[in-house]
Amino acid sequence: MNKQEYMQRDRDYVLGTYGRSPVVLEKGEGMYAWDTDGRQYLDLTSGIGVNSLGFSHPAWVEAVQKQAAQLAHISNLYYTLPCSELAEKIVKRTGLSKVFFGNSGAEANEGLIKAARKYATTTYGPERNVVVSLNNSFHGRTLATLTATGQDVFHHDFGPFNDGFMYAPANDLNTLKEICENNPVCAVLMEPVQGEGGVMMLDPAFVQEAAAWLREKDILLLFDEVQTGIGRTGTFLACEQLGVTPDGVSLAKGLGGGLPIGAVVLNEKMAAPMGPSSHGSTFGGNPVACAGANVVVDTLTEDFLAQVRKNAALLREQLAGMKHVKSITGLGLMVGIEFDEDVKAADVRRLCEEKGLLVLTAKTKLRLLPPLIISEKEISEAMTVLREVLENL
Ligand SMILES: *Cc1c(COP(=O)(O)O)cnc(C)c1O
Repeated sequence: MNKQEYMQRDRDYVLGTYGRSPVVLEKGEGMYAWDTDGRQYLDLTSGIGVNSLGFSHPAWVEAVQKQAAQLAHISNLYYTLPCSELAEKIVKRTGLSKVFFGNSGAEANEGLIKAARKYATTTYGPERNVVVSLNNSFHGRTLATLTATGQDVFHHDFGPFNDGFMYAPANDLNTLKEICENNPVCAVLMEPVQGEGGVMMLDPAFVQEAAAWLREKDILLLFDEVQTGIGRTGTFLACEQLGVTPDGVSLAKGLGGGLPIGAVVLNEKMAAPMGPSSHGSTFGGNPVACAGANVVVDTLTEDFLAQVRKNAALLREQLAGMKHVKSITGLGLMVGIEFDEDVKAADVRRLCEEKGLLVLTAKTKLRLLPPLIISEKEISEAMTVLREVLENL
């Protein structure tokens, strides 16, 4: 079969929910992927923030292969080794107390919302159930997380939506307080850097003041770190850089290094009421996914994270001088690029792809989520392509 036939088979049989690029990828190694015609691509997408260690990282492949051959799945009716090993590492790295494993970001947020309602219901009664999220947020595609997502574009045609969700503007403490004072709010959910919403970091002062006020009211602070977590921003969690410890965090994308895994990480207060049969997942804590995630978490040493921050600074420095670049947003290796008004990010993305460089968009911005293993050499290779595209627009 040739490329056109592969694409046609996909269009014939896979539900048409994705606008795919005309690229059929077959193989990857490190920072590079190859298509079915053997063409090479430098990857600054990491499969939307998933391939933290790039493609086919040797230690990751070894751990996953070994676990697949040894015990791939057994269910949560029994203890397994990789799951508790990973939970211990996550607890020690985050300072939180307990971990629940699921399979995706949306599912992790669902778990976080359930745990928040459980705490509030047990402590204050069932009326206290409202979760406040921020305008322009993205929390997933399941019905509850779609409801929590503060962007109307995602809401068309899928109603009715869930009760118990409200929205507040980002970086506006007074409005957040007003909503919380006038409604039975149990938790506030936010992304430290809004990803799909256009790579916008929250104002640290807003987050810190909100955190202090919410703690006073015993309203839970939840961070959706599905995209920002696991070293993406240069620290294990992005909230470390905001100077705030939340009550609960959701993780997913970068955690598994390429395998589907999500995690709900809770402090003692939120964890305590979540007893037997309060939540569950057939695949949750899957030994193969956890074996891969253990390698990812082990790789993110302090030295490795310092390197991520250094490379992120270098990347941002090189971007800043480019033609048509108006501003650079985000944190660490979660990069948003705003262009002059007449430049469309989607066009830049397509032109980069034609030159063998894979990048993303987020709203009107170009978005870079390179594997965390990116080196100076690959940064300059990518920036040469992007510079050429922008200078020839
Ligand atoms: C990607 C993402 C999700 C959804 O994750 P899925 O694995 O696609 O369900 C949720 N929240 C944020 C912040 C994300 O970036």
